[in-house]
Amino acid sequence: MRVYISADIEGVTGVTHWDDTRLGHAENAYAARQMTREVAAAARAAFEMGAEDVLVKDAHGTARNLLLEELPERLRVHRGWDNTPYSMMAEIGSGFDAVLFVGYHSEGGADTNPLAHSFNSSKLERLIINGERASEFVFNYYLAARHGVPTLFLSGDAGLAASARAFDPNIVSVGVKSGLGDSTLNVSAKRGVELIYDGVKEALKKKDVKPIYPERFNVVFVFRDHQDAHRASFYPGVERIDEVSVRFEAEDILDIARAKMFIL
Ligand SMILES: [Zn+2]
Repeated sequence: MRVYISADIEGVTGVTHWDDTRLGHAENAYAARQMTREVAAAARAAFEMGAEDVLVKDAHGTARNLLLEELPERLRVHRGWDNTPYSMMAEIGSGFDAVLFVGYHSEGGADTNPLAHSFNSSKLERLIINGERASEFVFNYYLAARHGVPTLFLSGDAGLAASARAFDPNIVSVGVKSGLGDSTLNVSAKRGVELIYDGVKEALKKKDVKPIYPERFNVVFVFRDHQDAHRASFYPGVERIDEVSVRFEAEDILDIARAKMFIL
């Protein structure tokens, strides 16, 4: 079994403010350490469940957050950005059996995490896929599903954890905090690690899970500023639908990811 972990930070236990998420900021020290612990717990559980390969994509900001010396010895780590449309899912096409998302957060437009956003939060107000507000998790789920790889686990804020289970009931999800206004209510850092370890063990018992993959993707990008919608409308196939929104349709999520790479 080969297991792929994509790790973000805004859904990590305790992370509440943008300062927590910025590499080099004094308040980032705890967040990076806890993100590392949560990834390590997921990886440890995967190895104990028989994985012979676990690759983690550091998928936040600079993609250089994880403290490598504190990760399990056999874990492979993808740092930095590969500048392909796969982005937070770099290398997912190279033959994995399961995806685990760690530290993921609610989508732009949701009120369940003070740091809720979808991709480039300075430009994009929200992302809508086939009529539903979509998180980075949903988008990345489809990138894995494109290669037949099912998502079996997610940890993050409770809002996203609940929506992940509703989206695909095969997913075991763990909420380590809930968001209210500009605050979060968290489990302890230690408990967050335990919940993730136990959740991954449970999740990897599942066999022969088929991921959801719709026949067609109708994607709306709602920008914060009309200027960005205007600019995006020049990408081939992109249609401007109002002052701040554009639509792009495709059968292959990779075509959507390619468009996103150039218009965001
Ligand atoms: Zn992030």
